[in-house]
Amino acid sequence: MKTVFENIEIEVAKGDIANQPDVEAVVNAANAELAIGGGVAGALHRAAGPGLYEECKPLAPISPGEAVITGAHNLPNEYVIHCLGPVYGRDKPEDKLLENCYRNALKRSEEKQVKSVAFPAISTGAFGYPIKEATKISFNTILAEIPKLKHLQKLKFVLFSEADLEIYKAMLAEV
Ligand code: ADP
Repeated sequence: MKTVFENIEIEVAKGDIANQPDVEAVVNAANAELAIGGGVAGALHRAAGPGLYEECKPLAPISPGEAVITGAHNLPNEYVIHCLGPVYGRDKPEDKLLENCYRNALKRSEEKQVKSVAFPAISTGAFGYPIKEATKISFNTILAEIPKLKHLQKLKFVLFSEADLEIYKAMLAEV
């Protein structure tokens, strides 16, 4: 499902963030050490190969809300943008920290003149952020940032489950 907002295509789709050949940059729901880990980080590092962690090491650790950008190694993309989401119930204020993730990821993409980017649902897996609240924050933040971006043409949300996809579709229908 797709829509256009301020000349930028916004798409929500079910899939694997490590297999998104139609975007220039993918966002990693990283851990502070920028290490392999589970979920999104595991999928991206496995597909990218060990060179990704080698490039990440000197950039770690990062703090909640921060984002750093690297090459994509064996992934079918140019860049990986690594964001550390808040752990729900521990990193406060979690809504502001999650906002910072999306805002800083878009800042990093803009610095590299990225034209297309795919985001997973940051913090909603191991970090426990309730999906509906996290979805609202992700949409509100990207809609507020989009008018400031000069290079981005396409933004995609990639959801792992059908249930999460339905929540994102409902949110996209309101844009
Ligand atoms: P966090 O630690 O930030 O919560 P996770 O990687 O544990 O990050 O999960 C974030 C979201 O990404 C969850 O909704 C999870 O279901 C989803 N997810 C897990 N693996 C993938 C994948 N390969 N591609 C896209 N989304 C994924």
